[in-house]
Amino acid sequence: MLRNVVIVGGGTAGWMTATYLKEALGDQISVTLVESARVPTIGVGEATFSTVRHFFDYLGLAERDWMPACHASYKLAIRFENWREPGHVFYHPFERMAKVQGFTMADWWLKLGGERFDKDCMVIPELVDAKRAPKYSDGELFERSLHDGGDRKRQSTMSDQDTQFPYAYHFDASLLAEFLADFGTRRGIRRVRDDVLEVRQDERGWISHLVTREHGEITGDLFIDCTGFRGLLINQVLEEPFESYQEYLPNNRAVALRVPADVEQTGMRPCTTATAQDSGWIWTIPLSNRIGTGYVYADEFCSPEEAEKTLREFVGPEAADAEANHIRMRIGRNRNSWVRNCVAIGLSSGFVEPLESTGIFFIQHGVEQLVKHFPDANWEPELIASYNRAVARCLDGVRDFLVVHYRCAARADTPYWKATKERPLPPGLDERLEAWSVRLPDHTSVYPYYHGFEPYSYNVMLLGLGGHLPKRSLPALDFLDDTAARAEMARVREESARLVSSLPSQYEYLTS
Ligand code: FAD
Repeated sequence: MLRNVVIVGGGTAGWMTATYLKEALGDQISVTLVESARVPTIGVGEATFSTVRHFFDYLGLAERDWMPACHASYKLAIRFENWREPGHVFYHPFERMAKVQGFTMADWWLKLGGERFDKDCMVIPELVDAKRAPKYSDGELFERSLHDGGDRKRQSTMSDQDTQFPYAYHFDASLLAEFLADFGTRRGIRRVRDDVLEVRQDERGWISHLVTREHGEITGDLFIDCTGFRGLLINQVLEEPFESYQEYLPNNRAVALRVPADVEQTGMRPCTTATAQDSGWIWTIPLSNRIGTGYVYADEFCSPEEAEKTLREFVGPEAADAEANHIRMRIGRNRNSWVRNCVAIGLSSGFVEPLESTGIFFIQHGVEQLVKHFPDANWEPELIASYNRAVARCLDGVRDFLVVHYRCAARADTPYWKATKERPLPPGLDERLEAWSVRLPDHTSVYPYYHGFEPYSYNVMLLGLGGHLPKRSLPALDFLDDTAARAEMARVREESARLVSSLPSQYEYLTS
């Protein structure tokens, strides 16, 4: 049995991995986490995916335990601004659409039409516009049918879930790492604040121990690389190749600001906003005490100085004293994230730009899969290969979904946006796009492996982006009575209005 796990890196990836492994495998393993006080964490990563709920549930953490400590807020959707044309807005909410007579409301909407697809078919967009919390003042979720309330702790692997939570969170990722560090050390994780100076290998090339500045040698059986974009163990020492996604997804830089906000005055919109710009897009993330914002762009089309200027103008005078954090992003994934006795999790494993907030989702997926594939002293090669397939497929699937965002956005008004229509496509995506030009995506025509995004997400994006709509509604619907579909749209509007008037605002809920 392997007993000794050593993690290098104390960012979000390091501490999520350490605490999850300890919870899953208990006191039969020892977990040591080494983190440098000199090498900073990436300092961004504030928006999440709804599956993150399983992570907190698994650790037995209630919202009141950790949300205030991390200045957290609720996220019900992503709001896309200007992706089709200036002034156009649509939401990608955490909400599946109803089916009527065997067809989704997306199919029906294409036939029946309406003002706004998102608001005609889902209730969350109105709640977000009205800055509502997803819960009543007594803590009850607004929509019981969107979750099952079952024993989530023991079925916590997110890829096994067939239930959906209607929200995720925004939080200060540095505070979350600190919170999990306290939580983890109380549960027996050994925390070593030190620099790893060298990584030594045995005669087979497996990692034998770390050499630290002040704590001498640290030995282990399994080493987890959570050192961020540097990939200290996996890339620098084990020399595993990194496969770039750059030809498909050109954004390779970001500049971020932390902006003070008077949330009592402004309220808090419970969504991440992605506002398209001439050479990329700007994120806006409302936390309970400030706004996190940043411009993600391609340096082929925009310099860091221009990007910072654009971001500051976008935010306005509130950003005057905020210090800019310029970040180079490594877009792609390792050929293998598990090599010999080293597993990379977090930015060291792979990353795509944060358009759908998937960085923390990848960490959670990586560590859940590691538990499922945890090795014994035989280091069964097929277990390792199976892990590597799961991680690679998850990242590749998100890559494809993000390429769809650019390719299918109607916008083509600047050199950057024109180029999004001409870039090469990842393998197989051209066929899928072809299929979607006559029929909206369903489970037979989206990327086939688990990557967190269901067909409804593809439907929402295609209908919202507007540049790749099916030529016409499905002929089959011409044979059906549309009364029930119209009734469903009416139900959505009534339900939205009822919820807007009965739910507290997010600000009221979080401060009460
Ligand atoms: P890091 O935060 O870089 O941590 C690396 C750790 O390794 C540090 O503790 C450092 O001290 C340690 N280390 C390095 N070298 C040594 C050494 N020699 N010895 C000891 N320790 C060492 N994700 C989301 O889910 N949502 C988002 O909205 C989002 N936005 C993002 C925006 C941008 C621009 C970027 C770049 C990323 C974003 N992400 C987002 C991703 C998210 O930030 C990361 O997935 C997450 O923070 C995990 O980072 P990490 O822990 O892998 O790396």
